[in-house]
Amino acid sequence: MPQTPPKLVVLDRDGVVNLDSDQFIKTPDEWIPIDGSLEAIAALNQAGYRVVIVSNQSGIGRGLFEMSALNAMHEKMHKALANLGGRVDAVFFCPHTAADGCDCRKPKPGMLEQLAERFGVELKGVPLVGDSLRDLEAGLAVGCAPHLVLTGKGPKTEKKGGLPPGTLIHDDLRAFARWLLTGDGAPRQAGS
Ligand SMILES: [Mg+2]
Ligand SMILES: [Zn+2]
Repeated sequence: MPQTPPKLVVLDRDGVVNLDSDQFIKTPDEWIPIDGSLEAIAALNQAGYRVVIVSNQSGIGRGLFEMSALNAMHEKMHKALANLGGRVDAVFFCPHTAADGCDCRKPKPGMLEQLAERFGVELKGVPLVGDSLRDLEAGLAVGCAPHLVLTGKGPKTEKKGGLPPGTLIHDDLRAFARWLLTGDGAPRQAGS
């Protein structure tokens, strides 16, 4: 029997949900939502979608900030979302640096495999929204549908090219959610 994907959306964090910085997001004060992103998550929730974040946080491995700061950022995010009637069901993060050679740091699919196991779902066809190629590559390994947003590193990522076949490009998370929920605002296909 053909399987329909679970009503689940996987998001990268920095550059998708909140503004990114080359200096890393190290404190709750530096964690600033992208305009419309939290409303987009709430709209997805209201349509029955669970939303999960999968994020590389090598700033921890580099000693730039502590776990307590990461928890405080996510506390801020959860509170802001709750005020809008939205929620993120889980945040998976990789604290390692590239030099650690772990299997969770994207583009490796380790965090997505953890997510599939914890939620008891197959991720085939589940939309994964990212602003970097490595987000989409990690998703590709487990069959996620790749979506690039043009916030954060998105414009640079699009310019570099080499996106997975079938990648759809949206202005931001708000545009992605509107497209997923209503079909409005046709996204561009990578390479076209
Ligand atoms: Mg990112
Ligand atoms: Zn890792």
